[in-house]
Amino acid sequence: MQLFFHDWFTAHVSSWNTDSHCAFRIDRAPTEAPPPSARSPLFRFKRPHPPTPDFGCASAGRSFALEIAEAAAGGGRAACARGGQAAGGDGAENTQPLFGHQICTAMEVSPQAPSKDAYCAAMVLSGAGDALGYRNQRWEYCTSGPQIHQELQEMGGLGQICVSLPDWPVSDDTVLHLATAEALATGKNGEPLLQELASRYVEAMKDMDGRKPGPTSILGTSQLRPEEPGGYRIPFNPSATGCGAAMRSMCIGLRYPHPSDLTTLVQVSVESGRMTHHHPTGYLGALASALFTAYAVQGLPLERWGLGLLKTLPLALEYIQSTAADSDLNVGSWAYFQEKWEWYLSERGLASGQGPARFPSAYGPAERDVIYKTFSLDGWAGRSGHDAPMIAYDALLGAGDSWAELCSRAMFHGGDSDSTGVIAASCWGLAHGFRGVPEGNHQKLEYRDRMVAAAGNLYDLAWGQKPV
Ligand SMILES: [Mg+2]
Repeated sequence: MQLFFHDWFTAHVSSWNTDSHCAFRIDRAPTEAPPPSARSPLFRFKRPHPPTPDFGCASAGRSFALEIAEAAAGGGRAACARGGQAAGGDGAENTQPLFGHQICTAMEVSPQAPSKDAYCAAMVLSGAGDALGYRNQRWEYCTSGPQIHQELQEMGGLGQICVSLPDWPVSDDTVLHLATAEALATGKNGEPLLQELASRYVEAMKDMDGRKPGPTSILGTSQLRPEEPGGYRIPFNPSATGCGAAMRSMCIGLRYPHPSDLTTLVQVSVESGRMTHHHPTGYLGALASALFTAYAVQGLPLERWGLGLLKTLPLALEYIQSTAADSDLNVGSWAYFQEKWEWYLSERGLASGQGPARFPSAYGPAERDVIYKTFSLDGWAGRSGHDAPMIAYDALLGAGDSWAELCSRAMFHGGDSDSTGVIAASCWGLAHGFRGVPEGNHQKLEYRDRMVAAAGNLYDLAWGQKPV
């Protein structure tokens, strides 16, 4: 189950369950309380191990209140991560007030299990988004969104496009995204997982004919030594600001979709990202793609994703500093990613995490080409780790449930359109499945079977044995 609370709320402990989870019920404040029948459903909060019997009701209430407020601000960071034993007893209906009104922005807790089809759509449509944006090199390197739209119209529109070989191959984005997904699908964790990722990235580079891999990915994978201890780490690279890490990381959010997975999501996205892009602007793009995908799984309102990313960055910085791998160089280059995202959210009126997003009054293909460039590091929109997920996010905010509009905004523009497309389509697929997507856009997609298989395996790993 999942719920969102946006304003004031009160919470009550309803019960401790025998599975060491505490159930809560979130209510609106009395001034705006809905009738009891409309109260939100229970959610679960993990009980500490061992329990802390001296944690009185008042202090427990305060602890939980602070944690939930923190979780709200951090996009769910603290939810289920830590808890105190609150008074409330073991009776199923032994409800006691836990804490008073707390202001809260929003959070997601114990997300309801999505369908396996949604996971399938996330993987398959990411490949479709890549192939559409790429158009066998032609559209990735076309600098005019209006020209791409014109060519699309001359082909009969999106519905007439059959995304299949030889004209519509997937690009490097999907090959490397599959490498990430298939490494995660092994179920490995920790060091063995990082070695698996490095090994598969090296292997994936053998499948790049006609797929235009980026120079930083080529260099980074040439430096990996997955057979050696710690061989998944490469030196800091001041030029590794590209989107090559961001474009292959959505599946990390499929593997670690729960709020309680956040620490792991941060670590795996940072480590896998810097296997080729050892620069914060590069590997934080991997974090953004993974986190946004997790948010999409959770059903978190889009307007809150950007703020959630900003609130998660300190976790990534903490991790970087703890691993002592060129820590000073990383810290010295840290600010740009964060500042650019703060600027973007301010532009869209989303700095506080409250919507609706504010777009320019004229925002068609021509205007978007101009505006997207203002997101960029060097004038090539979507080329970098920060702005590939930024353009994808911008497109998601504007597209609603329309696949055609998503493609117009994320795949058919004058920038690095396959990388923005691969990210946007993955998140969109989680929310909307294949609804409204022309069958020709994905049914004969190259590597479709591998994507479906990876989606199923990631789903089973993420949801198979997880208490909800
Ligand atoms: Mg590509």
